[in-house]
Amino acid sequence: MDTRGKKTAAAIHAEITREVNQWLQVLFNGRRKTGQVDLEAIEMMTRSAMHRVGAAGITELLRFPVPPTEQRTAPCSCGHTAHYQELRSKPVLTAVGRVKVSRPYYLCSHCHKGRFPADVELDIEDTEFSPGVRRMQAVVGQEAPFDHGRQHMKLLADLEVTTKAVERTAETIGENIAAREQQEIQRAMQLDVPIVVGEPVPILYVQMDGTGVPVVKKETVGRKGKTDGQPAHTREVKLGCVFTQTKWDHEGYPIRDADSTTYTGAIETAEEFGKRLYLEAWNRGWSRAQKKVVMGDGAEWIWNLAEQHFPGAVQIVDLYHARQHLWELVRKLHPNDPVTQKAWMKLHQKRLLDKGKIEKLVLALGSIESANAEVLKKIRTEVDYFATNARRMRYPQFRRQHLFVGSGVIEAGCKTVIGSRLKQSGMFWTVRGANAIIALRCRHLNGRLEDYWEARHAA
Ligand SMILES: [Zn+2]
Repeated sequence: MDTRGKKTAAAIHAEITREVNQWLQVLFNGRRKTGQVDLEAIEMMTRSAMHRVGAAGITELLRFPVPPTEQRTAPCSCGHTAHYQELRSKPVLTAVGRVKVSRPYYLCSHCHKGRFPADVELDIEDTEFSPGVRRMQAVVGQEAPFDHGRQHMKLLADLEVTTKAVERTAETIGENIAAREQQEIQRAMQLDVPIVVGEPVPILYVQMDGTGVPVVKKETVGRKGKTDGQPAHTREVKLGCVFTQTKWDHEGYPIRDADSTTYTGAIETAEEFGKRLYLEAWNRGWSRAQKKVVMGDGAEWIWNLAEQHFPGAVQIVDLYHARQHLWELVRKLHPNDPVTQKAWMKLHQKRLLDKGKIEKLVLALGSIESANAEVLKKIRTEVDYFATNARRMRYPQFRRQHLFVGSGVIEAGCKTVIGSRLKQSGMFWTVRGANAIIALRCRHLNGRLEDYWEARHAA
């Protein structure tokens, strides 16, 4: 240990001794007074005391010396040279509470930009939160409303932050994750992605769906709402998931591989989303999947993307959506007549749709007559829907291959990934804010937040 190190260590020892003495005093005075142990009060008080001890130590550690004469210049980003001015200090909130960092300040006389090389080294540039605290804010911020996050920081880590700070940090990190994803997507589109080596994947599924998220007014200007003539209040998040299947149960029903589901999504065009989902599938082993399956409801954009990015995949329309289409039609054909509706469904759903006899179903629907123009229009719409998707509805064939025929995984994802975080009452998002939190949340749920955190300074 050099002289400076010894001095620092001695200063830390002195600080710590002072804090520990205070803590011992409170501890034993408390017991003498009441004769009882209030464990919760003591554990909280002790944690605070230990945090102060740690903070005192870290503050000493972050007391940077005046640079020696020969190190009083630093390169400036403008190409000129910045010169050392003085030591400047700022508060930083760390995992053990508030500390002070005192570090050299350099100023460029050419562009007048000031800089703190130590802040770059410590990863506290332009922020008053340490990397450890920012990671906590990111995790609580993707999990629940930002004010819950603030409360969790207080209860779980004894750290006082504002709701706005949780929001800002989570969004900043989310934006950074999203920006890195875009770079990776660009590389993937130029076919410049590494081949992911590994075991062959027996069956790989890609599912996608859309779900609305409430947004602030400016995000819906000029957009039509779901009801004619009404403005939109939501924007559609496109969410995709990728998972694998190796086994089926004794009745032949598919079993999803445990913990194999990853998500990706954003408020963006179908074109942008297609590239995003392609990259996710690629990273999950698309190129070494022995069987590939793309699933969704009947939405046109889904199947356009499937053709473009996932050629060679088995395409399956979610059976439950298809059944829903029949239910909607029969309610128009035989309103308020549950007996007839049921009989009609028995024929059209159980004997035709579920059996994959879609051509027969289309013929049957096409031959229905009605004097009601609205009903006729509905019939034509549904005839189109089934005719277009016929090859995606060969359910018995899919079942024989032990494949899933419902897109329940992505529908659950819309609720757990998007709904539970972004669709709570009183929430109104900007597209930018929503996309940042979605990127952060997906990264966390995919178990890849640690990787991002480790890699964020590389490249
Ligand atoms: Zn400069």
